[in-house]
Order: sequence, then structure tokens, then C-alpha cells
Amino acid sequence: MRIVFLGTGGTYPSKARNVTSIAIQLPGEVLMFDCGEGTQRQLMSSSVSFMKVSKIFISHLHADHFLGLPGLIQSMSLNGREDDLTVFGPTDTTRNVRMMLRLGYFKSGFRVVARDLAPGDLLDCGNYCIRCGKAEHTIPSLAYALEERSRAGKFELKKARRLGVPEGPLYRRLQEGRSVTVDGRIIKPNMVLGPARPGRKIVYTGDTRPSKGIAALAKHADVLIHDCTLDSTHLGLAEDFGHSTAAQAARTAKEAKVGALFLVHMSPRYEDTTILEKEAKAIFRNALIAEDLMEYTVKYRT
Ligand SMILES: [Zn+2]
Ligand SMILES: [Zn+2]
Repeated sequence: MRIVFLGTGGTYPSKARNVTSIAIQLPGEVLMFDCGEGTQRQLMSSSVSFMKVSKIFISHLHADHFLGLPGLIQSMSLNGREDDLTVFGPTDTTRNVRMMLRLGYFKSGFRVVARDLAPGDLLDCGNYCIRCGKAEHTIPSLAYALEERSRAGKFELKKARRLGVPEGPLYRRLQEGRSVTVDGRIIKPNMVLGPARPGRKIVYTGDTRPSKGIAALAKHADVLIHDCTLDSTHLGLAEDFGHSTAAQAARTAKEAKVGALFLVHMSPRYEDTTILEKEAKAIFRNALIAEDLMEYTVKYRT
């Protein structure tokens, strides 16, 4: 599970940062969270194959979060994409995606499915699920939690030997959670496996003021990717426009006891983001300013 920060700036693109988009590489597919203008070019410069993007989750319908969709869809079509693409987002996403598909003289060669989501919705995607939370912005906005299913516990060789299970295919079967029969005795997986191991969890807030709901959504996440538009000297501005300061993002990370905090959506006014990083690190040590095309592999907690 690898996070690729495609665009980390807020509001409009700057020389240093494109607007918001984050890709998450999973086995066999890529999820994208937000797709600001110019995201497809960022994808070309990254390690992500844009044809493998299966689902795009839009946090809200401000231009810096969705305007990259029409161009990306057209390029996917020109490159011969055949697989469906699903675009999820808050209320009114479906209507907006339909409008985008009618822009200019273009007909997509593949199916684009759009679906409106609401806070509290849970999408079951097999090996992982997506939980929607309410972001506190100026328009309907969603925060998303990507939660991987828990994995089977560690295979305990000693126990298997003690129970007389012969090495080979039966080991694999037990690891896959299936019972086996040895000399007429039924050996169940829980007799040779340790406790289930938690899956990984990544939370992306989109644009938001600090919120108790988001702190709850992010509880014990491995990674929290949080709005960090301004520093604390602009607290009033952040509040008025539905954003967070670096300190507020860090407090949420601390409250939620996350593993790592990545700050995104920095205002283009910051050519140097040291002030933001310092402010966040003073509250939550494992805070980092995300940079365009930065990659981060999310490891299992033992
Ligand atoms: Zn924004
Ligand atoms: Zn916004």
C-alpha cells in the first residue's frame, strides 16, 4: 500500500505545487482521492499507471479538487481504456460528472459511473472498505477512511508440528483460514494461527476546519492526510474559509493517535513551508509537509 502525493497545494497551482490529488496504490488497482486541474500530468511524472485507476473519490466540488477529471477521462479514453471508472463524491457529484462527460466534442470509450455519497456511508470493496466522514468546509464535503481488512494471524510452526500437521499444502490451507483433517482429527485455523493482525488505515480529510468527527474517523489510522492551508497567525481566515492551520491539523493527529501526519493543501502564499512544519511538529512529532510526487509506503503494524 503506497501513497503517492500527486498534488499538495491548495486553492490554485503554484510553481512548487500542483493542486490536490493523492493516489493510493493497492495490489492490482489504484485509488485516487481528489483530482485537481493538471493531475494527469502529475500522474505522468509519477510511478502510478493512470490506466490502473479504478475509483476516484472527490472530497468536494471546489475546482482545486475536481477540475482535473474531464482531461484525465479524455486521456484514458484516448489510450484505449475499456474498464469502468467510478467517481464518488458528495451530493451533486453525479450531476457534475455527467456534465463533464458532455463537454466539447467527446465521447468516452469506456463507462464512467458516478455515485453520490454521504457522511456515514460505507463502501465494501472486498479487501478494503471506504468509510465516509463529514468534513467541516463551506460546501458539502467528505473525508474518507480507507480501511484494509484485518489479516489472519501469524502461522505458528511449533503448534502445527505439535498437532502433527505435515509440512506442505496443509500449512497453506490453514493459513488461508480453512480447516484440515490429519489422521481423522480436524485441525482448525485458530489452533495454529496467532491473533488476527489489523489491516492498514489511511484517512484523507479534504478541506476542513478541525473537527471531532474527523478525529474519530482517523482514530488509530496509520496515516492521516490533513488540510493544512495556513499557519496559526491566520487562524481567523482559516475558520472563515473552512480550513485548518498546521497546529489544528497536528492536534487532530494527536487526538486520533495516528502513526504519521502528512500535511497537504498548503496555501500558495507559502513558498517556504518551514513555518507550517515547525508549528505542526511542536504538537505532533511525526508530522511532515507532503511534497508533489513524494511517495510513502504504509507498512503493517507488526
Ligand atoms: Zn481546496
Ligand atoms: Zn474547498
